[in-house]
Amino acid sequence: MSQAKNIPGIHHVTAIATDPQQNFQFYTEVLGLRFVKRTVNFDDKYTYHLYYGDEVGHPGTVLTFFPWPNAMPGQRGFGTADTTAFLVPPDSLDYWINRLDTNDVDYSEPTRRFDEQVLGFTDPDGLRLELVGHRGATTSEPWHESPVPADHAIRGFYGVTLALEGYEQTADLLENTMGYEYVGDENGQRFRYQSTGADLGTVIDLHCVPNLQPGRVGTGMVHHIAYRTADDDEQLEWREDLIERGLNVTPVIDRQYFHSIYYRIPAGVLFEIATDPPGFTKDEPVEELGSTLKLPPWFEPEREAIKARLPEL
Ligand code: ZN
Repeated sequence: MSQAKNIPGIHHVTAIATDPQQNFQFYTEVLGLRFVKRTVNFDDKYTYHLYYGDEVGHPGTVLTFFPWPNAMPGQRGFGTADTTAFLVPPDSLDYWINRLDTNDVDYSEPTRRFDEQVLGFTDPDGLRLELVGHRGATTSEPWHESPVPADHAIRGFYGVTLALEGYEQTADLLENTMGYEYVGDENGQRFRYQSTGADLGTVIDLHCVPNLQPGRVGTGMVHHIAYRTADDDEQLEWREDLIERGLNVTPVIDRQYFHSIYYRIPAGVLFEIATDPPGFTKDEPVEELGSTLKLPPWFEPEREAIKARLPEL
């Protein structure tokens, strides 16, 4: 069980929404992310799978949604990915406070955490989000048609906060299998781990909230967190390492824009490891990303039936 490799950071985060139109407007018009892929949930073909990210949907910038208008609202609590944080330039928080105000988005006053300013807010379905002012992050390309000026644009993910009872089991997985390093704790409640090898989506905070009830995934909650791997061979090595740890890992699944394995960590959160290639330009050029409905080859024969059941966007 060699530990020669490590996870460089988050690949994408997938959450559950209600109304696809409302979701689309919030992420493109308010947060200024690019709509990089319009497709369906490969496990539920009459539901959209909407992807938002930077200009090309680089790994580490992509937030995706399954909009299920009739799904149950989620319940915050332990055993869930509670908050998703985006990285913005350190002097951009005032711009964002003003922008959230103008768009009637609820937010909390910025707080200081591990020496950085954090602005917490929620999306229209109650999904908990944060903007963290942080230097660096040169690998993403803000969407050139974004309503947010490039100086203030969201660069991609900063990290995620998992809500847990105890943190040690998850810490052991992060440090001893996934290659994360311990950074420190805040108030003995929030334990920070960080990956190396990427400048986006490197932080995982394990937040102990034993006094909350068990959480339940539903609308306004994260469904899973996907981590990056360089290629198919490395993914198979990860699979072996995770199985050796006693985790129940799915076979490799073809998601068209990446290949995936999934495993639920003992604390309850669903994790995925996704390959960086082939990426979102696999079936349309950069200029056209998100403009038309894309289906994997196995759904193409049903295109008309699928299209007829999806709402307009
Ligand atoms: Zn995923």
